[in-house]
Amino acid sequence: MIIAERKPLGEIAMMVAPHEKVTVIGCRSCVAICLAGGEKEVDTLVSAMKLKSMNEGRTQYFDGFVLERQCEKEWVKEVEDKILAADVVLSMSCSLGAQTIGDLYPEKIVVPGLNTAMFGVPEEQGVWSEKCLGCGDCIIHTTGGICPIARCAKSMLNGPCGGSSNGHCEVNLEIECAWYAIYERLKLQDRLDLMDTVRPPKEWSTSHSGGRRVIVREDAKLTPHQIRGKEASL
Ligand code: SF4
Ligand code: SF4
Repeated sequence: MIIAERKPLGEIAMMVAPHEKVTVIGCRSCVAICLAGGEKEVDTLVSAMKLKSMNEGRTQYFDGFVLERQCEKEWVKEVEDKILAADVVLSMSCSLGAQTIGDLYPEKIVVPGLNTAMFGVPEEQGVWSEKCLGCGDCIIHTTGGICPIARCAKSMLNGPCGGSSNGHCEVNLEIECAWYAIYERLKLQDRLDLMDTVRPPKEWSTSHSGGRRVIVREDAKLTPHQIRGKEASL
């Protein structure tokens, strides 16, 4: 899922300070699960903002609610009246939600309440770790199911580098060396031969290095009626 963290209160207050009517919009998906932008976090932020605004002598009105998914236009359009009534929208979703609102209502000022950080997983209560960089050409079947792009500080395809030390990464000794983890996983699976297989340079054009990516699936554009018609003609 997408992991995000709330920006500091002072930074949020500065972004919305010039505006009177502030609408705070959260999201019930990833950012709710990572405790950054769900119901509780939106309520807490609205209360804190009201207090801060009053203490700093501003006249501002805060309204807060949460959408099912802020990155989907259909959910956003359901609260169009609230968005149009606001002077500024403070998005408490990942940046995809904030940009969905901004693209739908380009005349509106939308500011980010969260810092979108990474694709990650919850490891334990209050701990999330990055496991994928969305390279567009997954190769984890060759690395024991562990992503060397996201989990190795140098994104090495043929590791480890010379800095691996006692199973830890030289870039941050608190983090496990991805290639140590890959070695241990392959050993467990009796597939250590894969450590000797040289992985060729990766085709990075499928990653962000190839520019902004857009995925088009013609089959997903069909309505159920069109699908039935297509099947009937076969
Ligand atoms: S190889 Fe690419 S798609 Fe697969 S987990 Fe790593 S970054 Fe993600
Ligand atoms: S020590 Fe391991 S994780 Fe760190 S950069 Fe080297 S190979 Fe990658």
